[in-house]
Amino acid sequence: MKIRQNTFLVSLLWILLMTASFAWNHAQVKSEQESLPLHSARSLFNQIVFTCCWNGRQGGVYVPVSRTADGEPSLPLPAETLRVNPSLQLTKISPALMARQIGEISKEHNIRYDFISSHSVNVTSKATEEEEGVFRKFEAGLAEEGKFITTGEGTSFSYMAPLIIKPGCLQCHDKQGYKEGDIMGGIRVILPDVRRPFLDPLLFAHIGITLLGLLGILMAGIRLSRAYAIIQRQAIFDALTGIPNRLNFADHIVNEFSRSSRTRESLAVIMCDIDHFKAYNDTYGHNSGDKCLQKVAQTIKNSLVRPGDFCARYGGEEFVVILADTSYKGAIHVAERIRFNIIKLQIAHEKSQPLQLVTLSLGIAATSGQPMNSYEELLKNADTALYEAKRNGRNRVESFMDIQSASMG
Ligand code: GH3
Ligand code: MG
Ligand code: MG
Repeated sequence: MKIRQNTFLVSLLWILLMTASFAWNHAQVKSEQESLPLHSARSLFNQIVFTCCWNGRQGGVYVPVSRTADGEPSLPLPAETLRVNPSLQLTKISPALMARQIGEISKEHNIRYDFISSHSVNVTSKATEEEEGVFRKFEAGLAEEGKFITTGEGTSFSYMAPLIIKPGCLQCHDKQGYKEGDIMGGIRVILPDVRRPFLDPLLFAHIGITLLGLLGILMAGIRLSRAYAIIQRQAIFDALTGIPNRLNFADHIVNEFSRSSRTRESLAVIMCDIDHFKAYNDTYGHNSGDKCLQKVAQTIKNSLVRPGDFCARYGGEEFVVILADTSYKGAIHVAERIRFNIIKLQIAHEKSQPLQLVTLSLGIAATSGQPMNSYEELLKNADTALYEAKRNGRNRVESFMDIQSASMG
């Protein structure tokens, strides 16, 4: 059925949409999570570089002599120690020493700075083979490198960028042969892994929404199917009596007529009309009339015993029966059974003389013995027979064949 196919297609589209949404969100969150430590590490790197530049531009800064500030063996500034008063002595510290001291403080906050020199100098740690490789990339123009590294202690983010000689740096570093713009080393910033697991919540949320959506689509599909089935039923069944309506009958008679023309089997039609039904309505009311129509319809239906037999409400208080592969003889038999069963209902109808019961008049026509061009001709003949039944006093069966024989005789 089309609705079922469409429901399946919409479900498939929904799943595809949700899969695409999951893939897109996953990529978005992943790239955000990965760029976050890069931005943090870059700004930490810049902060330390700016601080060192500031120190360098001042030509070093004085701090009270302490254990950590004291002594700078590899890059000594001109030994400048100031005694301010007997209890306060100041010493000048270089940008490099200051950076290392900041690095020490950062460790307390889980941030590690490694100051790496591309040359063998004591003040910083010597570059490892891997770091040498990164330096070569810096010399080739790489501005920075950041990546997640996993060690026995867990995953952390490692960021490395080159330290480029600025004019302020030369007063300490010119002795090492550096020129402005040279890469004298690098700083590696190692941050704890700040990524949070996001795959599970994202996946579960998408699975949940997908299932909810599928449920909605399925329910809408079922409701639509039911509504469609009701409409379909209403289109071919009579709302009052529940038996097939005239449209249904039209389909049926066309098929049966062409089949009987092909097989040359006799096709019979019985037209049934309730006697004095207008009077019944006038006497007992329209509602009772409706109930009577329902009972008559059910009785006609129940009077048909062969599987292929078909009855429909033809209009108002008229019903029609189609009997496939049935001659006049058989049709008269069925019509009499219907007439008798209606009397058996014993529906009181005081204006219907002489029985004072609801009765039926029935007219029969069949294709046997006479070739017919159309089913309309068959119906017209049945109608003629019905008219004859009315004319002859109602509550009776007349066949078109008898009318014909009588008119010929
Ligand atoms: P006859 O014996 O010649 O058939 O007389 P009749 O009164 O049955 O025929 P007539 O055609 O004069 O009237 C048919 C009546 O059927 C009139 C109409 O009110 C009634 N009728 C048609 N459809 C319905 C229906 O759905 N419900 C009810 N209650 N009455 C209906
Ligand atoms: Mg009528
Ligand atoms: Mg009638």
